[in-house]
Amino acid sequence: MIYHSHKNPSVEANFGDALLASLAPDGGLWMPNTLPHFTPAETAELGAMSFADCAAKLATHFTDDRFSASDLTGLCRDAYDYPLPMRTLSGDVLDPALATDDEDFVLELFHGPTLAFKDFAARFMGRAASHLMGETKQKRTILVATSGDTGGAIGDAFLDQKGIKVVILFPKGGVSKVQEQQLTTMGTAHSNVKAICVDGTFDDCQHLVKQAFGNKGLTKKHNLMSANSINVGRVIPQSFYYFWTSLQAKAAYPGRPLVYSIPSGNLGNLTGGLIAKKMGAPIDRFIVGNNANDPFVEYLGTGVYTPRPSVPTLSNAMDIGRPNNFPRVAALYDDDFSMIRDVCWGASFTDDETERHIRRIHNETGYVMCPHTAVGHLAMEKFAADIPEPFTRITVGTAHPAKFAGSVERILHTEIPLPAPLAIAMKKTKRMHVMVPTLDSLSDYLATHT
Ligand SMILES: *Cc1c(COP(=O)(O)O)cnc(C)c1O
Repeated sequence: MIYHSHKNPSVEANFGDALLASLAPDGGLWMPNTLPHFTPAETAELGAMSFADCAAKLATHFTDDRFSASDLTGLCRDAYDYPLPMRTLSGDVLDPALATDDEDFVLELFHGPTLAFKDFAARFMGRAASHLMGETKQKRTILVATSGDTGGAIGDAFLDQKGIKVVILFPKGGVSKVQEQQLTTMGTAHSNVKAICVDGTFDDCQHLVKQAFGNKGLTKKHNLMSANSINVGRVIPQSFYYFWTSLQAKAAYPGRPLVYSIPSGNLGNLTGGLIAKKMGAPIDRFIVGNNANDPFVEYLGTGVYTPRPSVPTLSNAMDIGRPNNFPRVAALYDDDFSMIRDVCWGASFTDDETERHIRRIHNETGYVMCPHTAVGHLAMEKFAADIPEPFTRITVGTAHPAKFAGSVERILHTEIPLPAPLAIAMKKTKRMHVMVPTLDSLSDYLATHT
């Protein structure tokens, strides 16, 4: 696959170069030049494979000749060694052989090592980057801004990998207690993963990373690479689970339309879904749930896109005022607002509404949602209220509720048991560097610590 800059179609790169370069030389986001299409027979074959094997097959269309089909099968089987169930709120797993009349599912993408959907992209990207770098013996520093989950997933995916340093920037007080513990306790004191607590917001962290990439001297000196969703290596693998799960859901409920709801911030997850649909995944609509940071939902309503500073909310991983994948969403539909509006519908919710929803769903069904998943589920409910005929609803469960145990326990007055990886992280001593959000202080840090 050849990729081009969204700012200029003649600026091109192959997959490996686009991944390692993060941004196009003109500052644009890399976009695939074409998308694969599959015949009904090929699609049926992909749906009958395991998720990992289907992902590997799809990946052959997006990579370049540095990746053989067997490299990709090995990579995906190694990366995706955990389940991705679609569950009803009463806990039943969607199974084409046992399809019941249920129509409301949560696609639980949080059973990977860091308990958030970011593992799907981070583990693919980490292995792809190591595969590419193995050939060159280069050293690289990955700079990643996180509103909570990306840092953990990227740190975990690159932990102890030779030739790679990971520097995670997170906003002071802007991530949950469990997330902070996870970010600051990876590996040993000498590990290649370092956490910086930035005295500012997530937007400040994201801006700092952009500034660093805009500084040619700094980028060159440290061979900087971004692991945020500006990197095409993060976005492409997020299409794989939409493609595969939509085939499973369609096999179970062939006659019903299929709609996904995605709790969104930077719109990377949505971009993955849109790419899957363009590849022929049988998805009718995407619902986008936003918290108070809702420039995209506003855009879907008005056609006017107004990025703005973020405000803190309960669903902190979506506290994003300037979604960095907005240009990709627009480019996929040639900047045609009416086409985007045909495919996407959105709604935003306050923290109060989110809390009430978490409580109501728990009371009615026993299911515990993280605050992000709850925003997605609320959006799905709002959309469904105006649709009389039955359709299959899949809300994307983006994180395990235990990652937000502090707020979820306060809302539900029940204890949320911590899964093993979190329980272990909670016992470790935090290590972090505290810093003001300026390029000078980041550059000093990089000079002394990497
Ligand atoms: C990152 C994240 C989101 C937002 O995903 P985007 O791709 O940035 O839109 C939603 N929920 C959780 C739990 C996340 O970690």
